[in-house]
Amino acid sequence: RAKTDSRGSFSFFEPDMDARAQSRRKIETELRAALRHEVLRPYYQPLIALSGGGVTGCEALVRWPHPERGMVSPGEFIPVAEDTGLINAIGAQVLRAACRDAARWPGDISVAVNLSPLQFRVGNLMATVMDALKQSGLPPRRLELEITETLLLEKSSQVIATLHALRALGVRISMDDFGTGYSSLSYLRSFPFDKIKIDQSFVRGVSDNREAQAIVRAIISLGMGLGVTITAEGVETEAELNWLRAEGCHEAQGFLFSPARPNDELRDLLDRQGTAGGAFPVSASRVA
Ligand code: C2E
Ligand code: MG
Ligand code: MG
Ligand code: MG
Repeated sequence: RAKTDSRGSFSFFEPDMDARAQSRRKIETELRAALRHEVLRPYYQPLIALSGGGVTGCEALVRWPHPERGMVSPGEFIPVAEDTGLINAIGAQVLRAACRDAARWPGDISVAVNLSPLQFRVGNLMATVMDALKQSGLPPRRLELEITETLLLEKSSQVIATLHALRALGVRISMDDFGTGYSSLSYLRSFPFDKIKIDQSFVRGVSDNREAQAIVRAIISLGMGLGVTITAEGVETEAELNWLRAEGCHEAQGFLFSPARPNDELRDLLDRQGTAGGAFPVSASRVA
């Protein structure tokens, strides 16, 4: 692409692109340092069973405590980490920390860790997962790995083989942000997975939106037919919760119950709630 326009002056877009590239380079440099000093760490958001109300597991969501910018959210640095390949080291660190933390949670609570498609490409994912399980002593059944439909777009036999190998270990696979990808339904036959997480864009306001209701019903019925667990993401209101429960959705996750919290805060919450399937104290933990 030409850097100059027809009059030979600099393109209108160039300063912007430069600033963008510069800001990404800055994030990259700082991210490398953060990795070296192991300051990235997962926060945990509980998943609640819609029958009974107990916590079934928690999702690990990476956070970056930044000296000047406070807590940086993954939306800002995961894309940079993916472009630079740093996501592999970040992913491994998050996985190790999540397994270590979860091994000390009470009861049978599982931990869900997000995987980037790139982590399937480097070839050492199996070893990373097995190491994390071994070092922590976490039983494989209590580890869930979240993948997205973009991974399936590649239709790679290596990806399918890795997913089968992970499941053979006893690890479970969840399809995250379901409904937002571009892949066809046919991949659902060739890819092994255990859970569908309905994207929050369909869940938001579902209790009074006919179109969202039609989509969520279709996903629930698809999930039931496939015999997988169905989880709703981003549940913020009692009305959404009640609608989802009435439709037979199995699990929910969202600010109605709790945001992602540091491990010690999460442990306090789990201790207070008790592990014996006690109902989650919705109103007590709701974010203001
Ligand atoms: P995700 O895996 O779909 O995670 C759900 C996101 O929705 C989280 O944002 C969570 O804080 C947010 N959320 C949960 N409940 C609600 C709600 O009721 N309302 C609203 N508005 N939002 C809610 P977060 O933590 O900023 O993470 C964003 C995305 O970054 C994640 O989406 C995931 O794709 C990615 N991510 C996070 N941690 C990791 C990681 O360790 N590795 C990789 N590869 N990706 C990660
Ligand atoms: Mg996720
Ligand atoms: Mg999601
Ligand atoms: Mg998402």
